[in-house]
Amino acid sequence: MTPPPIAPISRSAPLAELRHVAKHYRVSVPGGGRGNLRAADGIDLQVGAGTTVGLVGESGSGKSTVARLLLRLVNPTSGQVHLDGRDVTDLRGKALRRLRGRFQLVFQDPNSSFDPLASIDDSIDEALRARREARATRPARTAELLEMVGLEPRLGRRHPHEMSGGQLQRAAIARALAVGPSLIALDEPVSSLDVSNQALIVNLLNRLQSELGVAYLFITHDLNIARDVSHRIAVMYLGRIVESGPAEQIYADPRHPYSQALLSAVPQIDPARRATGDRAIVQGDIPSALDPPSGCRFHTRCPHAMAICHDQDPAVIETSNGITVACHLYAGASPSIGAPVAEH
Ligand code: SF4
Repeated sequence: MTPPPIAPISRSAPLAELRHVAKHYRVSVPGGGRGNLRAADGIDLQVGAGTTVGLVGESGSGKSTVARLLLRLVNPTSGQVHLDGRDVTDLRGKALRRLRGRFQLVFQDPNSSFDPLASIDDSIDEALRARREARATRPARTAELLEMVGLEPRLGRRHPHEMSGGQLQRAAIARALAVGPSLIALDEPVSSLDVSNQALIVNLLNRLQSELGVAYLFITHDLNIARDVSHRIAVMYLGRIVESGPAEQIYADPRHPYSQALLSAVPQIDPARRATGDRAIVQGDIPSALDPPSGCRFHTRCPHAMAICHDQDPAVIETSNGITVACHLYAGASPSIGAPVAEH
């Protein structure tokens, strides 16, 4: 499975963009007192119209926070959010609500986003009403949306608890489409489904993108699934994007030690790749975002960590093949970056 080819796009600015965005939360800490949870720091991310960016990383890396920042569901602590080429960082009230309609979020557990007392038809109807669709045309449009996601319109009369997990996720996608979005952020949309339903939903998303030109931010911890949908990949670790670039390049030749570890842990279906694969399994658990390690946040788990990694946060370096990477191993290697310049 591969993501659909990218349709030619006339716009010059990205559809959605985070420019050096941070999000910190003041939270209660174990043992009393308050602490600063650094959910996202220095995030630079772009999503082009009609394309998919796969945002990958372990649980607790800050992926969901990035999706909420990109959709302006939360206010950034610092940095800028641009949607459709416009700075919307300080947008509030009605103007923000109007804008949000074009940027939708689909959750891992669709049960949590549907009113359990409302039928699927009613939930989609509500989204169409918000878009000011005429009452007379809403039932036909609801049926059309259900068909678009592969559900028989009669299923719209059911309530969420009467649907299977795969059916309900399709209904959630139909409801997101009801408002005619330019971008849908999908937060682990297939994680709770069995393998066959995962493949069906991935196929559905790719088909909808080809037909409608909708862009996706696809959040997942499953790199096999990310490969099937993504044109670009951004790898997150503890609130930072440590590597990003074209999906093909990152899967073929990951640069950051964390990306290498994540990819080497992915089960290989191809026997040739399975036979040659060195496994660089990352040890231990991801540290707390309440007290991230100094210097490179990955240094406590990195097999290549050097003295500099404990003290200095690595700068983001652009490589010649369109990959950006934040790692001291590549300092001074731009633009014709190849092998690491130093190893422990
Ligand atoms: Fe590892 Fe150092 Fe690179 Fe961080 S900067 S990933 S610790 S080598």
